Amino acid sequence: MGLLDKQFTNDSIVIAKVDDLLNWARLSSLWQVGFGLACCAIEMMATSASHYDFDRFGVIPRPSPRQSDVIIISGTVTLKMATRIKRLYEQMPDPKYVISMGSCSNSGGPYWEHGYHVLKGVDRIIPVDVYVPGCPPRPEALLEGLLKLQEKIRNHSSRKLINSEVKKSA
Ligand code: SF4
Repeated sequence: MGLLDKQFTNDSIVIAKVDDLLNWARLSSLWQVGFGLACCAIEMMATSASHYDFDRFGVIPRPSPRQSDVIIISGTVTLKMATRIKRLYEQMPDPKYVISMGSCSNSGGPYWEHGYHVLKGVDRIIPVDVYVPGCPPRPEALLEGLLKLQEKIRNHSSRKLINSEVKKSA
């Protein structure tokens, strides 16, 4: 048995790809911008309460977008609010993620046809990673959305992220 064999059969050594470690850390500590817009926000708050316990997935509300990894757009995005949402998103550090929660945020919802004051989908101003359907979606649906986001993060490549940062700063 060679030296390497001895090292790698030792239980105290764990071998993993850097990408896997970074992605595991990211998906297990998604700090959230505390920001609600309309009725869907009540369900988002219920998801954070003790019964559904968002915290157990590492989702902790932060008072500032500069400390946050994910923003959950929960509710009606009026045209006036749209510019504020874009500003908040731009203030978040990379890598950052967006969950669109509910019909209003996904597509304008009940205001789709006659809501002259409502944006017909938040993806018109910021990129959305996961859409959660419903009017409003129940907390279980938001939890499912979070699991989908974690799945997406698990497959991220840090090299792509670094390349995009280099392009941005060039
Ligand atoms: S999707 Fe329904 S519940 Fe959610 S903000 Fe719009 S009207 Fe309210």
